Amino acid sequence: MTTKTAYAVHQIARPTGFPAASDFTHVETSIPEPEPGTTLVQNLLLSVDPYHRGMMDGGEGGFELGTPLEGRSVGRVIASRDPGLTEGDLVFHRAGWRTHALVTLGVDGTRKLRGHAGVPLEAYLSILGGTGLTAYAALTRTAALREGEDLFVSAAAGGVGTATGRIARLLGARRIVGSAGSAAKVRHLTENLGFDAAFDYRDGPVGEQLAKAAPDGIDVYVDNVGGEHLEGAIDVLREYGRIAWVGALSTYNGDRSPAAPRNLFEVVHKSLRLEGVLVRNHTNLQEELEDFLVPHLRSGRIGTDTTVVQGFDHTVDAFLGLFRGDNLGKMLVRIAD
Ligand code: NAP
Repeated sequence: MTTKTAYAVHQIARPTGFPAASDFTHVETSIPEPEPGTTLVQNLLLSVDPYHRGMMDGGEGGFELGTPLEGRSVGRVIASRDPGLTEGDLVFHRAGWRTHALVTLGVDGTRKLRGHAGVPLEAYLSILGGTGLTAYAALTRTAALREGEDLFVSAAAGGVGTATGRIARLLGARRIVGSAGSAAKVRHLTENLGFDAAFDYRDGPVGEQLAKAAPDGIDVYVDNVGGEHLEGAIDVLREYGRIAWVGALSTYNGDRSPAAPRNLFEVVHKSLRLEGVLVRNHTNLQEELEDFLVPHLRSGRIGTDTTVVQGFDHTVDAFLGLFRGDNLGKMLVRIAD
């Protein structure tokens, strides 16, 4: 790739079920010049996220065909006509899936990164980014996890799942149980991430496996998957338990109205609380999250937990990999050093 040319990924077809590489194409343009008030950023890291799948169906808030896909990114300023940013500054923005972006400070979440000595750039798109913020809001606000409580999180070896396990431990959770889609991920959870128990949801009915892994019940469930996972969690939640519902990975490429959970009325019987979490409603917690986690990142008590795919050309494959379970931790694409 030359430095005079910008590249972007465009969606060119609406997927049915699982998306395919042929639903996307790479488009070349010349690198744009910043207008007054805007800044040209060379992207360094891109985030690919399961929520992009829903946007690929189009409709309100969805992606338009033949335009660059949006996403969280971290880049370096290479030319600025905004006095608030100068060449070399690191910027977080949401115009990702392209090598270069024109951004405006303060618009659509664009901000100069605070930057913390000793903290790698990957952290700002993983545990200190929307991923960590989702987990932090789910635990501290939506579920209001208390010290000594027991927790279950699904898709536990992914970005939000790993961050949930890390943050729950720092908040003083007692027993932490996770589910994931392979034996290797289950081992990773218990051997490297400090989970007390974990199971492979492909090994048998989720409800039965969860009941064995959490024989005394749980207080909080952070749900990334929905469907059978949510049903199993409702069964093992104790009275006054809380569900922070973050996502529904089991439905993104198929049936958006799964049969499970079939036990929703247990929410009444057990006085449970089920509440959705949308990270964009919690951006006011960004500094609190950084202040809470940065000392632990610096001390090495927690890691950034990422799978980093190398090269812009591999952006689509990294995205598709989310639905094959290719990632441990947050899936990112490094497109420049
Ligand atoms: P992620 O968990 O890092 O990546 C996706 C993982 O999901 C894969 O590694 C795969 O792991 C698992 N998976 C894929 N298909 C699955 C299926 N059918 N059933 C169960 N697991 C499946 O992705 P993430 O970015 O951290 O997102 C996790 C969840 O949080 C998603 O539901 C996402 O939409 C949600 N989210 C919500 C917000 C919000 O504001 N509400 C913000 C960020 C993320 P396995 O190998 O374990 O299957």
